[in-house]
Amino acid sequence: VPESVKDEIVLLLKSFPGLSFNYKLIDKIGEGTFSSVYKAQDLRREKRSSYGKKRTSYPIVALKRIYVTSSPQRIYNELQLLHSLAGCPNVAPLVDAIRFEDQVIAVLPYYKHADFRDFYRDLPLCGIRTYMRELLEALSFVHDKKIIHRDIKPTNFLYNPFTRRGVLVDFGLAEKEAEPDPTACVCVNGGLSTEEIPPLNSFPTRGYLKDDHRPGRRANRAGTRGFRAPEVLFKCANQSRKVDVWSAGVMLLTLLARRFPFFNSSDDIDALTELTTIFGLGPMKECAQLHGLGFECNLPRIENSHSIGAIIFVAVMLDAKEEDTFAEDSPAWELLNAIDMKGKPKDSKLGREYGEALEVLEACLRLNYRERVSADEALEFDFFRKHTG
Ligand code: ADP
Ligand code: MG
Repeated sequence: VPESVKDEIVLLLKSFPGLSFNYKLIDKIGEGTFSSVYKAQDLRREKRSSYGKKRTSYPIVALKRIYVTSSPQRIYNELQLLHSLAGCPNVAPLVDAIRFEDQVIAVLPYYKHADFRDFYRDLPLCGIRTYMRELLEALSFVHDKKIIHRDIKPTNFLYNPFTRRGVLVDFGLAEKEAEPDPTACVCVNGGLSTEEIPPLNSFPTRGYLKDDHRPGRRANRAGTRGFRAPEVLFKCANQSRKVDVWSAGVMLLTLLARRFPFFNSSDDIDALTELTTIFGLGPMKECAQLHGLGFECNLPRIENSHSIGAIIFVAVMLDAKEEDTFAEDSPAWELLNAIDMKGKPKDSKLGREYGEALEVLEACLRLNYRERVSADEALEFDFFRKHTG
């Protein structure tokens, strides 16, 4: 443990009287935007070993110290949701919560996991299947309780490639799904018709509109760059559990294309442009219309959409060429034997399995959230159902 972490632990113990009585802090395991997470022994609970009575051991826990800059409402929300989410092996339950003055610590079981960056390029297709099944099982449980996680991404899904188990953490941005409100966004009733969209010549061809008197749009944008669903980018005020399915789709795309981050935009406009290059301008316009908006993009060569399979093929091949890793059984080798350069699955066992993976991918990445699958529906696809265990 580096000295700086030791110092930090000493400071934490000092500022939290009684903490050292119940927990023995071992290390720091994570630092997010809203918290620091430490590994600790839970001294209050003794682990009984089946034979020897001599040696006592203690369960390992994760102490998530939520920064005092978070609002009490936010902290309460996270603890409350965690508390209501007990009972699923793929969702981290709350063991305890402790408070001293303005400081709050959530206690969770500790999950041994690997850094996504260390395995996302090496998972064979069957590993990708297990990863996604674990993630979708977690989502299915959370969504069944009408909760939107809102921040589905690799660092919030702790996966152990050796045990092949995954656990969803970090409900810091989660919220209950609200009833759809037709006055909040027209998507509830199927969006605007084309005639209702003002003609393009009523807008400037370049830059922003001057003296724009239309009311601004406000909506929950919580989430992480690159994982935001189109309805979040279009500021829809009726966001649903489907935003999580989109993010899970981006994770599947990342694993198949072996590129992380797959999307790497600096802001929401950039993010919309990235989506346009993949899905095409026409489908993006349709999606905007669903949320009562027009959408224009003057970048050349984005009129045509590409098949997502073709994009994956190019991404993997470019990488493998750079690193010269076409060894037999490598992911690139596997892909070469599964799909052609147009992304079409080959007529082989592996090809069919890749085809099944692409079906899940396309169903999760539907721009129109009403056409996007739920987590439950995704789990019913052949990719998961035909291959159990
Ligand atoms: P934040 O809101 O700050 O992102 P998270 O709950 O996502 O906080 O935790 C940050 C990091 O700490 C995670 O990405 C993970 O690496 C680690 N972590 C969190 N909870 C656990 C846990 N229960 N077991 C092991 N590691 C954890
Ligand atoms: Mg996090």
